[in-house]
Amino acid sequence: MLIVKKFGGSSVANKERVYNVAERILEDYKKGHKVVVVLSAQGDTTDELIAKAKEINPNPSRREMDMLLTTGEQQSVSLMAMALENLGYPAISLNAFQVKMETTSVYSNARLKRIDSERINSELERRNIVLVTGFQGVNRYDDITTLGRGGSDTTAVAIAAALNADKCEIYTDVEGVYTADPRVVKDAKKIDEITYDEMLELASLGAKVLHNRSVEVAKKYGVELVVRSSLTSAEGTIVREECKVEKMLVSGVAGDKNVARIAVVGIKDEPGKAFELFSLLAKNNINVDIILQSIGRDGTKDISFTVPRDVLEDAKKVIEDNLGRLCAQKVEYDDQVAKVSVVGAGMASNPGVASLMFESLYDSGINIKMISTSEIKISVLLDEKDTERAMNAIHEGFKDRF
Ligand code: ADP
Ligand code: ASP
Ligand code: MG
Repeated sequence: MLIVKKFGGSSVANKERVYNVAERILEDYKKGHKVVVVLSAQGDTTDELIAKAKEINPNPSRREMDMLLTTGEQQSVSLMAMALENLGYPAISLNAFQVKMETTSVYSNARLKRIDSERINSELERRNIVLVTGFQGVNRYDDITTLGRGGSDTTAVAIAAALNADKCEIYTDVEGVYTADPRVVKDAKKIDEITYDEMLELASLGAKVLHNRSVEVAKKYGVELVVRSSLTSAEGTIVREECKVEKMLVSGVAGDKNVARIAVVGIKDEPGKAFELFSLLAKNNINVDIILQSIGRDGTKDISFTVPRDVLEDAKKVIEDNLGRLCAQKVEYDDQVAKVSVVGAGMASNPGVASLMFESLYDSGINIKMISTSEIKISVLLDEKDTERAMNAIHEGFKDRF
């Protein structure tokens, strides 16, 4: 059997944890399986590297950031290879150049395009345990890129797809996917099985237990995932196309603080203005999420929308540079907002979901700034300071429906 295992940063944070992971790798290797391991940077290394960069230059280029951040993953794989060597087992660490993991050229948010399986396969044939750096790739300029925060999950799933692996296991610091972040909602329950579609929504809406693109790749190539703890032997959560268990109304609650709101006030109320605004943002690679347009009054209207907080500065620049063209009276920015969502495939045909969500927020005295819905989710925008309270209130409101 060929098994791909991915261990996150906290799972390899220090010497003791490195050896704990080494033992878990060996459990399968000793049974005769081929084992490929994808690792993240140890503990808070990535955050520390970001802080270090900002000390030198508050606004570093994305290319140089990628060059710096990818060193974290390189440390992890080499240290793990040393631990395995020390235990008497053959291991080899490989980075994105050595494997040939090709990505698009967008620094700090690249997408994997192709993974060459040749080198990994030949190392496996020699009975090596293969340790691969997560989160990184190489673009067509032969520059190193990163896949976005949390991207090691995507590396693991893409490698599992490229190698046609029999199993892909994502080991982390909780026992699986829960009905909400168990660190925020104490009553959150572990989910045994979840579909790709629901997991993709949860991950995209802020449940960082899996990188959202890892779920996209898993769905595209039919890679069944298991999310489980690196510290206990609990069963974990299976992520797959269809679940055997009966459909519940909702599968989970997610919160996302990487959100900012922009309000463009007093735009001329005529055709083409929304197109002009959003095409400008799209041309600059700025993703827009919730959009709200007011009713036109006295020949003008307002358009508010949200963007990821980490691109607010970029969005500000694009809008301010084009204020004249947009004919807007003013623009307001708010980076103290957050988005809280409920997700569930069962909600499409159930009209009670929105009202139950709003009632839960009302009972806790939490104000809603914006609302957005789709077939399988409802999101609200609220004050950032209310995030945890809102997640708990909504989770409590839906507790019999999970
Ligand atoms: P790793 O370093 O292993 O990649 P992450 O910190 O990226 O780990 O993701 C695991 C964390 O995701 C958990 O510690 C938990 O706080 C958080 N999390 C958010 N939402 C959920 C959820 N629905 N289920 C489980 N964990 C969640
Ligand atoms: N080390 C990277 C991060 O902290 C990638 C990952 O952990 O998946 O975002
Ligand atoms: Mg992660």
